[in-house]
Amino acid sequence: MPSVLLVEDDQTIRQRLTEYLTSRGFSVETSATGMDAVHLATAGNYDIIVLDLGLPDIDGTQVLKMIRSVSTVPVVVATARDDESEIVAVLGSGADDYVVKPFSGAQIEARIAAIMRRVNAGTVSGPIRIGDLTIDTQTRVAAIAESPIDLTRKEFDFLAYLAERVGVVVSKRDLLAEVWRQPYGGADKTIDVHLSVLRRKLGESASQPRYLQTVHSVGIKLVDPNS
Ligand code: CA
Repeated sequence: MPSVLLVEDDQTIRQRLTEYLTSRGFSVETSATGMDAVHLATAGNYDIIVLDLGLPDIDGTQVLKMIRSVSTVPVVVATARDDESEIVAVLGSGADDYVVKPFSGAQIEARIAAIMRRVNAGTVSGPIRIGDLTIDTQTRVAAIAESPIDLTRKEFDFLAYLAERVGVVVSKRDLLAEVWRQPYGGADKTIDVHLSVLRRKLGESASQPRYLQTVHSVGIKLVDPNS
């Protein structure tokens, strides 16, 4: 059972997330202050830490640095605002990912799952399961409800890249660079064309997306349509 240290001073949020994560099979310990969090992180053996940046005693970024000085445990930071400079700073200070408040239990669970897959990559890498969708990067087979989908090599790479980052918006720029090994050109239709074909094969459309969600036309994320 993966263990989570949840650092959050807002009692309502703390309680809600604890209940959700516990119901999803995590063991959860909580802390309401930065000092307590550093003590627990030093002494405890957690699989992941979810760290609120706005804490009453020490700034969350300082807490992150203190945790990083003693531990390599993955940390997901929760920020109150979608402030790009702050997010860049915490990622630079060793956070593995971030969520912007308010976020749902399902959202944080998706981030935790994505990080744990990255951490466990190469050790226990079974197929990725997202809703009815299964993606096996070893055998390169994708299936919906156990029935295989006929994908080209690039379509599979595209889907697998998103599946490894479930719930996270991936920019078209990153997709072109990482999946197609191409530089980004503003008028490039490569991704749009592949997205449209992939959607058809997954049984969805741009007007009725399920797994593949576009975000402000700049990025795409793969989500579990049932959560
Ligand atoms: Ca707070």
